[in-house]
Amino acid sequence: MLERTRNIGIAAHIDAGKTTLTERILFYTGMIHKIGEVHDGGATTDWMEQERERGITITSAAVTTEWWQHAEEGVTKLFPGQKQRINIIDTPGHVDFTAEVERSLRVLDGAIVVFDAVAGVQPQTETVWRQATKYNVPRLVFVNKMDRTGADFDNVVSEVKEKLGANAVRILIPIGAEDQLIGQIDVVNQKAVYFSDDDKFGSTYTVRDLEGDLVDLCKQAHDELINAVADVDDQVGEKFLNEEVITLEELKQGLRRATIANLLVPVAGGSAFKNKGVQYLLDAVVDYLPSPLDIPAAIGMNPDNEEEKIEVITSDNEKFVSLAFKLWADKFVGKLVFFRVYSGMIKKGDTVYNPRTRRSERVGRLIQIQANEHKDIDVCYSGDIAAMVGIKNVTTGDTLAAERHDVVLEPPTFPEPVISMA
Ligand code: GDP
Repeated sequence: MLERTRNIGIAAHIDAGKTTLTERILFYTGMIHKIGEVHDGGATTDWMEQERERGITITSAAVTTEWWQHAEEGVTKLFPGQKQRINIIDTPGHVDFTAEVERSLRVLDGAIVVFDAVAGVQPQTETVWRQATKYNVPRLVFVNKMDRTGADFDNVVSEVKEKLGANAVRILIPIGAEDQLIGQIDVVNQKAVYFSDDDKFGSTYTVRDLEGDLVDLCKQAHDELINAVADVDDQVGEKFLNEEVITLEELKQGLRRATIANLLVPVAGGSAFKNKGVQYLLDAVVDYLPSPLDIPAAIGMNPDNEEEKIEVITSDNEKFVSLAFKLWADKFVGKLVFFRVYSGMIKKGDTVYNPRTRRSERVGRLIQIQANEHKDIDVCYSGDIAAMVGIKNVTTGDTLAAERHDVVLEPPTFPEPVISMA
């Protein structure tokens, strides 16, 4: 499961559509497998309304979702592909360089950065972008609100390059804009994806061959993509130089490596509000953002001797090491301690040791926020995110580890970019 897990955050300037996008992602990931309900528009809308009222998921520190990747041609997204787990970690919207922002960035493996197709790069996003660069968090850009009057996808792509210094590359280009937003060009697969006219939740899409002007537009974008990947990725670069055929799989793998190493930033466009493009964005999350196995081991240290570094390897067979990144008072469950496991695993009833307080406490319950409920789980594995109940002496930023395992975590390090993005 670990290679099929993504721990991501969604960042945006206020009003760019972070909440709307999060809702749509939760809809597709939380409800998608409940086929009956998806076809029944009423039921899903009711669900969304309940959700708004309670707000437990949207405002939660971390929500665990499931996504079946890659719908088959011409069918709805209900067609089951491979099941993926996407944990969405709340990244505080107000970016004032608080410890909270830094801490949430530490537990992310990747992020979607949302832009307004009319407003482009806004000051707050520049701040988030710099923070993410500091922590080397791989990013995908979603140019949202393509249905708005004045939406300009290519202008936002240029601004992402110029103002943020990002090596941005288009992977999903909107077909049309404003009230003519009808689909997307899937540059990687060189296909057209047409959305249904249904703006309600649960809209479908069809995949077709490209026609007319779209053929040239896609060809140009595809050449750009191959050039961009070849520039930064040795394997694709070598084939490119030798004028060998680069297969679809090789291109995708190269793009994935380049995104994870922060050498490229894939850009997609659509409208979260009208459900256009969100499903393909989720596919891109799975395809290009890293799994916990793709990131280097976290580096911990001995609390008594900060010189002594301890490698914390993502594996269930290692000793348990986790980072408590958010405390949450839940009126039904009590105090929730959200944590990310860096190494080993934890079972309900296990004892965890806090090297800061040098005390151990028993984990009464383990909970994940899934769809619209708190779900009790028995085990939380390496790389995953959950909440503990029953732990009292803890503050955010604490390391919680196996009994007498004296290690505290430093910010995880990501691969150093080979070229400077600035
Ligand atoms: P946040 O502040 O980033 O969380 O933004 P919200 O998700 O609350 O969205 C701000 C406003 O923009 C709301 O009125 C949304 O309905 C609207 N909005 C969000 N996404 C879209 C979109 O794709 N198209 C249009 N036209 N409006 C959108």
